[in-house]
Amino acid sequence: MSEQILILGSGNAFFTDGRAHACYMAQWPDPSSSGTIRMLVDYGASSLMRMNQEKIAPSTIQSLFLTHFHGDHIVGLPFLLIHFKYIDRRKEPFWILGPAGVEQAVTDLLEQMYPGMELDFPLYFKELKASESTSFMGASIEPRPVTHRPESVALRLSFPSGKLFAFSGDAAMDDLLVQALEDSDLSIVELSIESQPDPDHPTVAHVSLQELMEQRDRIRTGRLVVSHIYNDLASQVEKVNSDRPGFAEPAFDGLVLSL
Ligand SMILES: [Zn+2]
Repeated sequence: MSEQILILGSGNAFFTDGRAHACYMAQWPDPSSSGTIRMLVDYGASSLMRMNQEKIAPSTIQSLFLTHFHGDHIVGLPFLLIHFKYIDRRKEPFWILGPAGVEQAVTDLLEQMYPGMELDFPLYFKELKASESTSFMGASIEPRPVTHRPESVALRLSFPSGKLFAFSGDAAMDDLLVQALEDSDLSIVELSIESQPDPDHPTVAHVSLQELMEQRDRIRTGRLVVSHIYNDLASQVEKVNSDRPGFAEPAFDGLVLSL
C-alpha cells in the first residue's frame, strides 16, 4: 500500500462547474500492523457524498485534520459523525486535529445542525500549535500559519517513508505560504482567482494565478498541484504549464497523487 493523497473535492465554496468542496484523504501504511492509516483533510458540505461515490467507507478512516473553520472546509463534518453513529455503529475512536479552537468549532457546528446529539464512540480532539511537530499514527504532522482566517494553518504531513506532503488550506500568496510549502515532495495549493482586483495591494486572502506566476520560483516543492479552482482557471494553469513545464498541475475530483 503506497503513501498517497486522494482529492475528494477540488472546488471552491460555490461548487463552480460541479466541483466538490475541499476534501482530501491521505493514507499511509500503519507501522504497527499490516493495515492502513487514513486521514481526511478538510470536510466541506459534499464530502460524505464524494466518499460514497469513491467507495471510501467512513469506517476505514481514523482521523480528520481541519485547516480552518470556513463552511466549505468544515460543514460536512456533522454528516460524517452521524454516519459513524447510526450507520457504522462505530466503537473505534476518531481523532479530529486542527488549530486552536477546533474542538469548539466542531462542537458548535454539531449542536447547530443536530441539537442534543450524543455521540457514542470516543471522539478525541487534538489542538495543535503552529510550527510544532506532532507524531501521529506513524506520521508526523506540523501546522504552519498562513494568512486567511485568524485560525488558518497549512498542513505539513511527513509520511513514515520521510516523504513530505504540504497542503496550503486557504491562504494568501505571501512569505508564510512559501515557508509552509518549503522542501516538500508534493504540494497542493489553493488557487481561487485569476488576479487580485488591485494587483499592487492584494486584498483577497486567496492565491491568484497572476501571483503564482510571479512567485512560483520561490516555492520549493517536488510537485505542485493547484486546487480550490474552477474549470476555466484549470485550463489557464494547463496553458501556463505547457509553456513552463513544472509550473503546476490542476486538480480534479478523484485525482490520486502517489508519493
Ligand atoms: Zn476559507
